[in-house]
Amino acid sequence: MKKELLPKISRRSFLKTSAGITAASGLTVLPMAKKAHGATSGGLATLIDLSLCDGCVDWEMPACVSSCKTINKDVIPEPVNPIPQPWPRKTIEDWSKKKDVFNRLTPYNYLYVQKADVETEDGKRTVFIPRRCMHCDNPACATICPFSANHKMKNGAVVIDYDLCFGGAKCRTVCPWAIPQRQSGVGVYLQVLPDFMGNGVMYKCDLCHERLAEGKLPGCVEACPRKALLIGPHREIFALAEERAKQMNGYIYGKTENGGTSTLYVSPVSFDLINKALIKKPGEPDMKPDVQRRMVKTDGPGRIVLASPILGAAAGLIGAFKWFSRGKGGTKGGEKDND
Ligand code: SF4
Ligand code: SF4
Ligand code: SF4
Repeated sequence: MKKELLPKISRRSFLKTSAGITAASGLTVLPMAKKAHGATSGGLATLIDLSLCDGCVDWEMPACVSSCKTINKDVIPEPVNPIPQPWPRKTIEDWSKKKDVFNRLTPYNYLYVQKADVETEDGKRTVFIPRRCMHCDNPACATICPFSANHKMKNGAVVIDYDLCFGGAKCRTVCPWAIPQRQSGVGVYLQVLPDFMGNGVMYKCDLCHERLAEGKLPGCVEACPRKALLIGPHREIFALAEERAKQMNGYIYGKTENGGTSTLYVSPVSFDLINKALIKKPGEPDMKPDVQRRMVKTDGPGRIVLASPILGAAAGLIGAFKWFSRGKGGTKGGEKDND
């Protein structure tokens, strides 16, 4: 049965975002405008086709990255000055003077385009890889969070509630790609015990869930001139990824990695070769195939930690702060709808 169309995205414009094979499959965008969450049974997924992405090499900044930066430019408030020195001797991470950086992930840059010069049997081949949160199906980053500040929404987005996050970076530790990025000197920890607990807020791609709720495409998907990014119903995106991989005799990344994700890459070059060719640095994740989900045996410690008196009291304070700040139009955050 055909799905309804988004009010602001016609079937034609959506199909324009994909190759002919998509038209053949009848893939459409779900009626996300109906409801911000819960509009889908299996949620949404994204397809990133590396055979189409050219890295926007002639552009000053890749169009997808530029769009993401514009949409999210006001998310982070100005950090306090000076930023409290966290105890015991944790590192302050301050990107507020480097907001323009776009060649790696930062708290001000949720998406960047990696370049890999891959040695293949047919010679050297350059591959461009847009990287951001994979929106994993069972995200350890959400499970570990002591303050339940991170949630998988029913529409597939994994969203950090910036009002609740203490910046402890446990989410980054358990993420195989170390995606969330910290900005110190902002967030609720400043209202609690800034010298003893917390170190800022963790930021990452939220799948533009607020735009989805308004019936719009994520900024990066909308901006890509080569239609290398697609979003649609999970099942249909997965089927499309399989078809494209078959057509190009290629490979898929994200289907099984970290226990399964809502982001599939298709590539004519193997991800093993891509991973070997990548330069790995902080903020520049690897692409190791078959990476296992961490914490399989330890899920739940975050919630146990909440039982401790100090953190429990802090959580109460956060709740009060959140209620107070929301009354004044608090900062952007995610919805808890995954219960
Ligand atoms: S995904 Fe699209 S916008 Fe982004 S770098 Fe590739 S071609 Fe450019
Ligand atoms: S990619 Fe990392 S940050 Fe994103 S949902 Fe998965 S584990 Fe969490
Ligand atoms: S979905 Fe939105 S927040 Fe995520 S990378 Fe794309 S533009 Fe940025």
